[in-house]
Amino acid sequence: MAAVCVFCASSTTLDERWLELARQVGVELAAAGHALVSGGGRVGMMGTVALGARSADGYTLGVIPESMIGWEIADSGSDELVITDGMAARKNVMLARSDAFLVLPGGLGTLDELFEVWTTAALGQHTKPVVVLDIDGYYTGLLDWLAGLVPLGFVRASAMELLTIVTTVPEALDALSRCRTPMV
Ligand code: AMP
Repeated sequence: MAAVCVFCASSTTLDERWLELARQVGVELAAAGHALVSGGGRVGMMGTVALGARSADGYTLGVIPESMIGWEIADSGSDELVITDGMAARKNVMLARSDAFLVLPGGLGTLDELFEVWTTAALGQHTKPVVVLDIDGYYTGLLDWLAGLVPLGFVRASAMELLTIVTTVPEALDALSRCRTPMV
């Protein structure tokens, strides 16, 4: 069992299929015995992944900046809700309280969170797994572009190797199953 932080979209204008993906991920994380760490809001995929986890009796920890409580609708159903002073503090708490990270489709905030945990791993500040669900090629363009920076010397090959890229939910669960550090 691990505390798995899921980064994903907060958008409220998504096709139902993305919400269903988030729900499925929440259910399967809980079924695998993982706790969920999330953005602590009820909106978009972020809210749905937490609902999914709780529907399968999973433990959910939400981390939300005070300024976003109204905007992202604080997930008052969380087993634990940490309110932070700002966005940077939110990422710090998510990093500290998680054993692994799972990146689902998302927007700018999700990308910011991905790069935060990835760059800090590349700097040797933590060794927590970062799993990217490149479902239906959602991240393929970004990942291909980044891979192209390696031969140019801008990105180290070792940094690329820090990401575990998967294309299905079962593969993501399998990658996370190798992470067994207990929740802090
Ligand atoms: P998005 O992928 O843009 O829908 O955003 C997903 C989540 O990332 C939302 O909960 C945003 O509040 C959050 N987010 C956006 N920017 C930041 C940031 N700089 N630090 C921490 N969280 C952020």
